[in-house]
Amino acid sequence: MPSNTKYIFVTGGVTSSLGKGIVSASLANLLQARGHSVTIQKLDPYINVDPGTLNPYEHGECYVTEDGAETDLDLGHYERFLNTSTSQENNVTTGRIYKSVIEKERKGEYLGKTVQVIPHITNEIKEHIQILGKKGIYDFVITEIGGTVGDIESLPFIEAIRQLNWELPKNVLFIHLTLIPFLSATGELKTKPTQHSVKTLLEYGVQPHILVCRTEHPLDDEIKSKIARFCNVDQTAVIESINAETIYDVPILMQNQKLDEVVLTHFGMSTNNQTDLTNWKKFLTNHKNPNQEVEIGLIGKYVELKDSYKSIVESIIHAGAKNRTNVKIKWIHSESINKNNVAELIKNLAGVIVAPGFGQRGIEGKIHAIQYVRENNIPFLGICLGMQCAVVEFARNVLGHKDAQSTEIDPETPFAVIDMMKEQKSIKNMGGTMRLGAYPCDIDKDSKVFDIYKSKAITERHRHRYEFNNSFLKSFNSNGMKTPGVNPANNLVEIIELSTHPWFIGVQFHPEYKSTVINPHPLFVNFIAATTKIKKQEKSLVNE
Ligand code: GLN
Repeated sequence: MPSNTKYIFVTGGVTSSLGKGIVSASLANLLQARGHSVTIQKLDPYINVDPGTLNPYEHGECYVTEDGAETDLDLGHYERFLNTSTSQENNVTTGRIYKSVIEKERKGEYLGKTVQVIPHITNEIKEHIQILGKKGIYDFVITEIGGTVGDIESLPFIEAIRQLNWELPKNVLFIHLTLIPFLSATGELKTKPTQHSVKTLLEYGVQPHILVCRTEHPLDDEIKSKIARFCNVDQTAVIESINAETIYDVPILMQNQKLDEVVLTHFGMSTNNQTDLTNWKKFLTNHKNPNQEVEIGLIGKYVELKDSYKSIVESIIHAGAKNRTNVKIKWIHSESINKNNVAELIKNLAGVIVAPGFGQRGIEGKIHAIQYVRENNIPFLGICLGMQCAVVEFARNVLGHKDAQSTEIDPETPFAVIDMMKEQKSIKNMGGTMRLGAYPCDIDKDSKVFDIYKSKAITERHRHRYEFNNSFLKSFNSNGMKTPGVNPANNLVEIIELSTHPWFIGVQFHPEYKSTVINPHPLFVNFIAATTKIKKQEKSLVNE
């Protein structure tokens, strides 16, 4: 029986960075809130097989799924908005398409044919688009096409969706996201770039059904009717997407513009069922009406590009709302921290997060910061490299191994407290070869993390090559650094904590990948709660 999944494609025009990911996630959210099952997929036009080998300065954070795919950061938005997991199939790049086609060609699967962009590459793209739909579990698969219409590299994707529309005429919808710029000199909103962008799409054989128009000013009926007329769409299908205070407002703004209704009507589906956004709205109320404020430090080496830490920042927002706390982030470049300025930089902060990362740059700054928060009882959350730095710091300053280091930074260190996993040592390829995806972790009942997770067995997502070196375990444990979270299969240390500190936890995994609006991550929620407690204690001391 053919699946009746509906395919919605979201393209972007005029400029990049208009927020296709957020619009896609918001539409998905609205459809889900009406009781439909929805997933979102991203097609990225670059040649990397996946973003795992990209420097964060290129496209921001690399987001990791449960099944260990290294993906575009938009997948993080999809999960945070929908509270459901994505997978390897939710992010496909040009590189992956070509790799698969070339492998098939080498195996002789094309039976002597000349292998070409059309039909072989486009067929491969269409197959990938439909993998999720053919599972038979989704009413809607929303596919976001990366890049901007007109780019050479996204042409095969546009051609593939044109063909799909031809093949599944009742089950395809095109949404085009464009920009309506405001010219302050004349005080006017301009529709011409949108007209041109739609014209470019038409040249490729794609007529959008809905235009979502990013704008800094409301679009009145006159301008909507002009856009509708020039772009062959119904006026109700010209959707204003005005700048929002927070990305989490966008589903509500899209609902006000009836985006979901226009979509359902296009497919001849009922618009009668209620949209249940109760929990979402509760989150928004908490987020926008905090009753206290704290400032925490986020220490990393990519702080010039905040998108490098997207999931951490969003997890802090979720946890802030849960605590009715406005959490301000002080971004601290790890390279800027030294022995002399560390106190000045950190002493007034309610908590510190040391971020994940790779390589030597900024390591010493992170270690200085961790020593300061450890000695001064400031709440600390170390994530992946952040945890590894906490282990190195403890080895140096508590255990007295002055040359302790991770072998990632110094392969010759005599105290390799963080070392490469055995299985990693023979691996030469960089792409997709780290310890990736969800792994189980058993938690010791006698620990702070047990109180936080309220569970003896958890799973969390990983992305790293190095590990706590268990040959030092005893000396860490007997000197106050507990290791209450361990992988049950191989005894790898997953969590460290200091029993004598108010809140000092390091995790080898990435809790930030699992925090969603509806399910904020317990570690972040508890960390923010700890920062507010410390603030309150300070206040009461001052008042005494
Ligand atoms: N560079 C470290 C490793 O590979 C940490 C990685 C991370 O922080 N994601 O183990």
